[in-house]
Amino acid sequence: MAVQIKKIAVITSGGDCQAMNAAIRAVVLAARKYDIEVVGISDGYYGMTYHYPEAFKALCADEVENIIGCGGTVLNSARFDEFEQDPEGIARRAAANLGKAGVEALVIIGGDGSFRGGLDLLKYCNIPCVGIPATIDNDIVSTEYTLGFDTALRNTIEVCDSLRDTCNSHKRCNVVEVMGRKAGQIALHAAIAVGASAVSIPEAPGAFDEDKVIDRMIEARRNGKRSFLVIFAEGAENTGLPENDKKAALDAAVRDYDEGKIDAKALTDVAFHNYKAKYSEQFVSTLRSRSLAAFEKYYAETGNIDFKGEYIETKFMRCAHMSRGGRPTTFDRVVAGHMGEAAIALIAEGKLNRVICVHDGRIADMDMVEAISVDSFYRKFRKTGSYDEAKYNELTDLQKKLFAYRLNVSEHLLATAAALSEI
Ligand code: ATP
Repeated sequence: MAVQIKKIAVITSGGDCQAMNAAIRAVVLAARKYDIEVVGISDGYYGMTYHYPEAFKALCADEVENIIGCGGTVLNSARFDEFEQDPEGIARRAAANLGKAGVEALVIIGGDGSFRGGLDLLKYCNIPCVGIPATIDNDIVSTEYTLGFDTALRNTIEVCDSLRDTCNSHKRCNVVEVMGRKAGQIALHAAIAVGASAVSIPEAPGAFDEDKVIDRMIEARRNGKRSFLVIFAEGAENTGLPENDKKAALDAAVRDYDEGKIDAKALTDVAFHNYKAKYSEQFVSTLRSRSLAAFEKYYAETGNIDFKGEYIETKFMRCAHMSRGGRPTTFDRVVAGHMGEAAIALIAEGKLNRVICVHDGRIADMDMVEAISVDSFYRKFRKTGSYDEAKYNELTDLQKKLFAYRLNVSEHLLATAAALSEI
């Protein structure tokens, strides 16, 4: 029989998201049922490693009162790269502090990176853990849902709706870049929810055919459409720009810099635009110039005065970190409650080193190593565009199902976004 765990710690780690507080609260309140003490550690693995005892604080019901509706995290979050660079050294240091605090297991509220840290604590120091997936990006392969996603979408959609109003008044387009890093989940859902004219995501760059999108927008404007919204995930890439062109531009700038013709800032700008410039920003200028040329031609051909000097005036908006803050939605609070409770139930049962998930719309859990390995398998596939058949065959049935879900979900949402596009 598993030894009953009496004291656990909870951390929030990685990028913050809105329902982290609701999850902390759920962990603390659910732990009461099993007489498990909870210690909250501030600043994630950083606080755990370098700030004992200041960062360690016993959490009881009073401490988590009234936090359910608050954004951010009362435990603060931190990125702590040193852990990745020296996993064994940091794990040993952190585990020594956990030992001093009498902590026997850890609840990690965060993304896949944070779970990897948990596995290092297990590997080097035998500290067990349970993970609660929390990241606005909804990009953890082991689960259909991650905390914060619904609220991030709410924030994003509010921005888009506001932009739509003013776009309509002024006959404009707004290109909106939304968060999500290499994942297009926020972009796809937002595109459907606001009736965007088009959406570009990193998972399927070929699905965004720039020429076709612009032609259709021009046609729609010719037919009287006033407003357009085009959504880009922050990781969306312009695959139409040949790699050689980018390199040539950068090489020329480096030459100019060496010859003293441009300063360091100008060189950085060139590097930024060729390697880091977001496709969303590039699209703004392409749409402006292409639509101007198209309407000039149209006016010359038809003499229709309505189209004299016409073009699709286009503004740019980056949603960035505003997606992360604010009061969590009901959905996020409720799912956080279920996840926190499920995490504690696992600990009480002695079922450790697992990740709480949503599978087929229900709260479930799976082995943390398997969760991380299917995540890595998917990310590698995304990077290279193929996977090793033998490695695929080594996946469990559940991992294969999660992999297939992740591959299909974007395609399915893209099809819906296209079908419901307002052009
Ligand atoms: P989000 O996706 O919202 O950013 P995340 O948990 O994936 O959340 P990361 O920045 O990847 O965010 O990871 C959070 C922290 O977890 C890191 O700063 C580091 O301390 C730890 N961590 C990440 N990867 C590893 C690893 N491979 N080994 C040890 N620790 C890691």
